[in-house]
Amino acid sequence: MILAIQGGPCSGKAVFAHYLSEKFGYKVVNMYHEYARVRQLGEEVNEGVVMKFHLEEDMASLCKIYENKLLDIKSNYTEGYVVYPFPSHMDMQMFISDKHQIVLFQIEAPTSKRFARYKIKYPSSKGARDLESFVEIDDALSFTKTTDRSLRVVKTFVNNEDSIDAFRAQLDKFDFMNKEMVRPKWDTYFLRLAEVVATRSNCMKRAVGAVIVNDFRIVSTGYNGTPFGCANCNEGGCERCNENAASGQKLDECLCIHAEENAVIEAGRAKANGGTIYVTLSPCLTCAKTIVQAGIKRIVFNRKYTMKIAETFLQGLGDKIQVDWIQL
Ligand SMILES: [Zn+2]
Ligand SMILES: [Zn+2]
Repeated sequence: MILAIQGGPCSGKAVFAHYLSEKFGYKVVNMYHEYARVRQLGEEVNEGVVMKFHLEEDMASLCKIYENKLLDIKSNYTEGYVVYPFPSHMDMQMFISDKHQIVLFQIEAPTSKRFARYKIKYPSSKGARDLESFVEIDDALSFTKTTDRSLRVVKTFVNNEDSIDAFRAQLDKFDFMNKEMVRPKWDTYFLRLAEVVATRSNCMKRAVGAVIVNDFRIVSTGYNGTPFGCANCNEGGCERCNENAASGQKLDECLCIHAEENAVIEAGRAKANGGTIYVTLSPCLTCAKTIVQAGIKRIVFNRKYTMKIAETFLQGLGDKIQVDWIQL
């Protein structure tokens, strides 16, 4: 696994990288050192100086240096690496987020805090001398014409901490050895797909998605919304939802079909029988009954909808149906 760290100057990238090295044995690769090596800047180079050099670089050739180093690591790695930092240039982002085995983290920190750290770290830097020039360089690096922030970042840490220990304590809460960061397990995979399915919902109240799986194959998908031929809920099709009725109220007046019902109708009992339904929200009583009747043997959901009667009904079935709450 390669963990990549991105963040502005003095946001805490080095502390982060060395934390991963000490605690989990990831090998640290400093991309600024690589840049300095390729451009023959000598030993004395630091982040402050590299920042200035970067501004004078053509972005495409700058990215090439970073990409080559990453490919070099990938071609002969058997262990974990942590690499930092990266420019926010679009091509670089595409490169990082498209490549398998590279997990991208982001660190953010207030500019005033970063400058305070910068002054301590590089007291006689050839880079930024005052806050104004620090901001100028920082902005120029962070907001190039091709800057792209739509990254597949696994997690963004905010390093607003006053000490390294406090930041390390924050990092302690995250599982950096979790292999699912690179390749999700089946349950995570199907539940995430259900989240994608939910984005097609047209209901004004809630967006819910469901995926029925049998023998690791997707049998059907469903999301909530009004039936065929009706105006979509978000186009005024369901009065109850558009009146913003309270959760669980006036359900008998609701025209929206639930995600689970749509998925079961789509699959039919023959295909759903013995399968698992992945749903973004725990089922209501009607859907729970439908699921059971379709012969589905396992329900996996992401968020909990409090309907005691549905829970009691499912619990009453004992081991005829397995219900798992997995939070993504
Ligand atoms: Zn609706
Ligand atoms: Zn339902």
